Amino acid sequence: MAEQLLDGFGRVHRDLRISVTDRCNFRCTYCMPADGLEWLPRDGILTFEEITRLARIMVERYGVNGIRLTGGEPTVRANLPTLVGMLAALGTDLAMTTNGVSLPLLAADLRAAGLRRVNVSCDSLRADRFAELTRRDALTRVLDGIDAARDAGFDPVKVNCVVMRGVNDDEIADFVEFGRAKGVEVRFIEFMPLDADGIWTNDLVVPVNEILARVNEASPVEPVERTSAPASRYRFADGSGHVGIVASVSDSFCSTCDRVRLTADGQFRNCLFAVTETDVRALLRAGADDDEIAAALEASVASKWAGHQINRVNFIKPRRSMSQIGG
Ligand code: SAM
Ligand code: SF4
Repeated sequence: MAEQLLDGFGRVHRDLRISVTDRCNFRCTYCMPADGLEWLPRDGILTFEEITRLARIMVERYGVNGIRLTGGEPTVRANLPTLVGMLAALGTDLAMTTNGVSLPLLAADLRAAGLRRVNVSCDSLRADRFAELTRRDALTRVLDGIDAARDAGFDPVKVNCVVMRGVNDDEIADFVEFGRAKGVEVRFIEFMPLDADGIWTNDLVVPVNEILARVNEASPVEPVERTSAPASRYRFADGSGHVGIVASVSDSFCSTCDRVRLTADGQFRNCLFAVTETDVRALLRAGADDDEIAAALEASVASKWAGHQINRVNFIKPRRSMSQIGG
């Protein structure tokens, strides 16, 4: 048995993203159709015990040191603080990406259960545009959620903003100001071809250089040394915090990627854009022992490709959309 989850290109994988549900209370245009998707049957979703067993194998055997809960919307999964407590006991960094709408209710409980960091998605600071983008009139509640996260002691709180040309790219300066004023780190994300409605085109992508130029115009920044994290980070020259840009399309970070993913229905994915999956749920429910599960994880990572092929003729859009994979 290996001691690391290593692929054929020498990349060691230590970052696990767990989708705890495919369900969501929003319908963001860049992610889900207006009517939602057909939800997975409840008994198809991994139990807290199954999720924790998988995570334990990965932490104990392969030194996985970061776990992020995502979805769908993770906070719609009942009793989420219980799962957080079970995963926190593994001793790794534990984070969550959320639309933020339930944080006014849940932030303190999640923090107390051991969640360490939180990213809140927010793509517009204008109520009407926010409602159009998410198909929910919930901007105030999400902004309250960001405040609730800070009040609960999450630090840093990050704000994910998917930038789309002609949709919300005129708000980059507003988000820079918002981040500085609130003491949160805004991460601008390039729009990726993982939407369920097939609206993605390259014309909608605002590339990293353009985002960076607009950030610089709003407030000068200087680069921070790159890590395996997908965001290029910059610090404001006046010392008022940081900002990030995730250039998944125009300047992919595949060569340093250390992420693997587990879907809500227990499929292990070695890439966000993977077109094949390993059915870990079947192994778990067939009574496989830890060695058998570990062997399946190792084989999946070993077969990882060099990188995604967005904008090349051989790009194949994954069957699942973002909300079914977990961003
Ligand atoms: N529901 C939670 C949320 O919205 O934060 C967690 C799941 S969501 C799929 C995770 C992240 O993926 C969010 O920050 C969201 O903005 C981002 N996302 C969704 N669809 C995307 C797309 N097509 N391109 C880029 N980012 C996307
Ligand atoms: Fe739901 Fe998050 Fe997708 Fe929006 S981005 S529809 S909140 S899963």
